[in-house]
Amino acid sequence: MEEGGHGIPRSHPRYWSLVLRERLVEAMREGIVVPQGLIAHGRGECFDYLIGEETQWFAREAARAAAALLLLAEHPVISVNGNAAALAADELVRLSKLLDAPLEVNLFYRTEERVRRIAELLRRKGARRVLGVEDATARIPGLPHPRGMVSPEGILRADVVLVALEDGDRAEALRRMGKRVIAIDLNPLSRTARMADVTIVDNIVRAVPLIAGEIEKLRGRPRSELGEIVQGYDNNRVLAGALLHIRERLEKLAREGVALNPLGEG
Ligand code: ATP
Ligand code: MG
Repeated sequence: MEEGGHGIPRSHPRYWSLVLRERLVEAMREGIVVPQGLIAHGRGECFDYLIGEETQWFAREAARAAAALLLLAEHPVISVNGNAAALAADELVRLSKLLDAPLEVNLFYRTEERVRRIAELLRRKGARRVLGVEDATARIPGLPHPRGMVSPEGILRADVVLVALEDGDRAEALRRMGKRVIAIDLNPLSRTARMADVTIVDNIVRAVPLIAGEIEKLRGRPRSELGEIVQGYDNNRVLAGALLHIRERLEKLAREGVALNPLGEG
């Protein structure tokens, strides 16, 4: 049987999902992901299953608005946690280069050791600027917790912050600081998804390249045109679109038959 990495047969119907799990488990052994991160991923997987494990229109629309916001930003920053680094380090580094924006390590369960390991991984992948390691000396007001520690050169002064698999509280605190928040979150009902200015409801492994692609398309367009994209964007419509997509997909499956092997046929 043909096998991909980790001995998972490529022909397995859930090949990609299993590969991502293996990546996270490996990253946990390397001290990059915490056990709680595995649980968070499981929640994401469930929503990925519901949307159909493919990028849908609402993610494309949000990625376009995210790209416009990032191109218009004076100090865009890409916030990276353990799961994001484990799943999409290459893509995040590429995005930071495209934007000439720093990556900043920010962890909910912060230990200096884990911060260093994540920064090392990003640098190994070619990152030019990784913040949040020794320079996490400032605080997000109202977040009395290590996840509120930020770099004065990064998230503290950023006008636009891209976050993935974020905690709702922190997304809210960033909004209160007047920042525009772009979230990547498979759960359209999470507080993060509802709190962000732009929410890309898609798996991080698909969403980051999607944003990069939109940046390449929009780069060089006049600022007025980028501003119109942002003005015309409605996150509520996009989140509602994700919920309705799930409902319609479930209704269709229920009508057409869910069972793969119904009794009394064949
Ligand atoms: P919130 O605090 O915003 O309400 P939450 O409590 O539902 O979020 P957390 O555990 O704080 O969830 O954060 C994990 C979030 O990341 C979940 O909403 C989950 O759907 C999402 N998520 C997990 N894995 C992925 C992934 N691979 N790609 C995109 N989103 C993901
Ligand atoms: Mg949460």
